[in-house]
Amino acid sequence: MPTKIEWANEVWNPVVGCTPASAGCDHCYAKRIFERNLSFHDHKFENPTTYPNRLDTPFHWKSPRRVFVNSMSDLFHPDVQFEFISKVINVAFLNPKLTFMILTKRPSRMLDFFKWVGKSVNLDVAPAPANVWIGVSAENQATVDERIPILLQVPAAVRFVSVEPMLGPVELRKVKGDHVNFNVLEKSRFDYANNGFGVGAPMSEGIDWVICGGESGSGARFMHPDWVRKLRDQCTANHVPFFFKGWAGFKYEAANNAVFKDTHEQVPVDAQPMTRKFIGKKRAGRLLDGREWNQIPNESLLDRSRGLAGLTQNAREVK
Ligand code: SF4
Repeated sequence: MPTKIEWANEVWNPVVGCTPASAGCDHCYAKRIFERNLSFHDHKFENPTTYPNRLDTPFHWKSPRRVFVNSMSDLFHPDVQFEFISKVINVAFLNPKLTFMILTKRPSRMLDFFKWVGKSVNLDVAPAPANVWIGVSAENQATVDERIPILLQVPAAVRFVSVEPMLGPVELRKVKGDHVNFNVLEKSRFDYANNGFGVGAPMSEGIDWVICGGESGSGARFMHPDWVRKLRDQCTANHVPFFFKGWAGFKYEAANNAVFKDTHEQVPVDAQPMTRKFIGKKRAGRLLDGREWNQIPNESLLDRSRGLAGLTQNAREVK
């Protein structure tokens, strides 16, 4: 189904429903959409439900496009069986013209899944197919620190992180964890040949793409513009594509002498005090320092027959 998500052309929801994984889920967008369309569903949102009849949908998309997998769930939710996840990944593998983007807040289960697949081909961890980009959602430094080191253990052509809703400053260059004692943005080089699902190939070693955005809807939490700016700067310094989804309807203004009324307006330590006002998504827009940030790894370089180098240097702007 065509989507308003700026960085994808289609959404594909073979699973619908989820339960919270962390503070970033507090105002779950998928749950809100689900509840608005209750008449379409025969189950509760908290009971993730698989839809095998949707597995053939991507076979009808003939032209290349970017497909966001499971905007209405988390594919790696513990209630989704590995056998079903395997079918989803195989559909992706069988549609190499399409680029599938999978985001999870449960990278441990994703790692377990690719280990499970690996067993059948004598690998510790099977790689994701070349046209499957895997990423984690993380809202602050604690979740980035927890999730990125696990994400990096799954071999993949492109790995990404979505910092949305951004609830605090995030320093990607200092992520630490098992197997990670390097700048994950610096390791974002692209050097792999497509050997397909289950066959080892040199893959990206770091984070290849960063998405960032504020929280929308009632109760939306504060996103300091300096947090966004600093994340953007980390990416540009390391030639990593950066995509800013926007201010989620809020206009932020410097307010040195402001009296802050509620917790959403709290001044972060070491940052310029700011206030914000809701002015609507369109008016608040997506500009950061006077321009839109629409960078995305160039999937047209994902030629399945050639090895690739320097993908992140060839990031292109998405119109
Ligand atoms: S993981 Fe995603 S879909 Fe699931 S509750 Fe959290 S925000 Fe919603």
